[in-house]
Amino acid sequence: MTAFEVSLDQLPLRDELRGERPYGAPQLDVAVRLNVNENPYPPSESVVADIARSVTIAARELNRYPDRDAVALRADLASYLTGDGGSGLGVDNVWAANGSNEIMLQVLQAFGGPGRVALSFAPTYSMYPEYARDTHTRWVTGRRGDDFTIDTEHALLQIAEHAPSVILLASPNNPTGTALPLDVIEAICAAAPGMVVVDEAYAEFRHEGTPSALVLLPRHPRLIVTRTMSKAFALAGGRLGYLAAAPAVVDAMRIVRLPYHLSAISQVVARVALAHSDELLAAVAELRAERDDTVAWLRSIGLQAADSDANFVLFGLFDDRHAVWQCLLDHGVLIRETGPEGWLRVSIGTRQEMVAFRCALQEAIA
Ligand code: PMP
Repeated sequence: MTAFEVSLDQLPLRDELRGERPYGAPQLDVAVRLNVNENPYPPSESVVADIARSVTIAARELNRYPDRDAVALRADLASYLTGDGGSGLGVDNVWAANGSNEIMLQVLQAFGGPGRVALSFAPTYSMYPEYARDTHTRWVTGRRGDDFTIDTEHALLQIAEHAPSVILLASPNNPTGTALPLDVIEAICAAAPGMVVVDEAYAEFRHEGTPSALVLLPRHPRLIVTRTMSKAFALAGGRLGYLAAAPAVVDAMRIVRLPYHLSAISQVVARVALAHSDELLAAVAELRAERDDTVAWLRSIGLQAADSDANFVLFGLFDDRHAVWQCLLDHGVLIRETGPEGWLRVSIGTRQEMVAFRCALQEAIA
């Protein structure tokens, strides 16, 4: 046996990681991929050309480390948020990292830890317990109601019982699409002894009139709103997530981040994307309309579909959801087997992709 044949069981892995599997949806080569809530529209040729030009310029300085505080990018993100409900936000209020996944891990590195609790409300984003595990933070979940909203009284009881150092609230929530009303978030902020994170990865897809938690930031010093460029901005491959909060929260992130965590290439690509935000976000209105049509269509064929403020829809109920998922896959349509038992989640794709989804689903339930 060579050293390379050693198995994972034979390595001194941390106890809590034994038997764990890497997170991730299957990356299958299928014609219609509606499984990881991506934006189906690639950047236009002119955006591609602009990215290529800026990367060429940045490449000439790749012998140097990048700006470790990503100041120019954070200033651009602050002005973008100012146009989307944020007020009084400047560079000191914003922090950026490799996807909002990394942002969330940094939040738990700074504010979670041994002897501390992170609280959320299930069903919710399945990465949260992994951030907790990886930072030795105890993971506790309350529950969402049958309509996937959070009952304030239930939330306050959970807070009183567990005194969480971090509360994670996805709004719109993954995998249900549910947006939280501001009064629920405010009541949670008022009762929380620690940090409250509102994960707004899908915020740009919210219905007209649904507010962003950004408006609450000036009133709540321990509130953090996280966003990503992976969804509405169609930049999942660029890996850029960020948060907005009080400057002291940004100071905490700077303590736990790895030196030069955000490459010069990531920073420049995100800045070019932000400069083209009008064009990149142009598809959002169409995706929203397609989402609302999908919900209405699912209901019209007798299925349940959760109200969604995101670019995906949770639908069901199926006695054997795996069989439905498999049948769709057999028809070349990949969706996600996630959420409570009996439910499936479909990301909103192009019109053509959604037609393929409808045809395949009708076959699956015929
Ligand atoms: N939060 C939620 C609720 C998500 O669904 C996702 C992606 N699936 C993320 C955060 C992380 O996205 P990213 O790391 O690409 O920013």
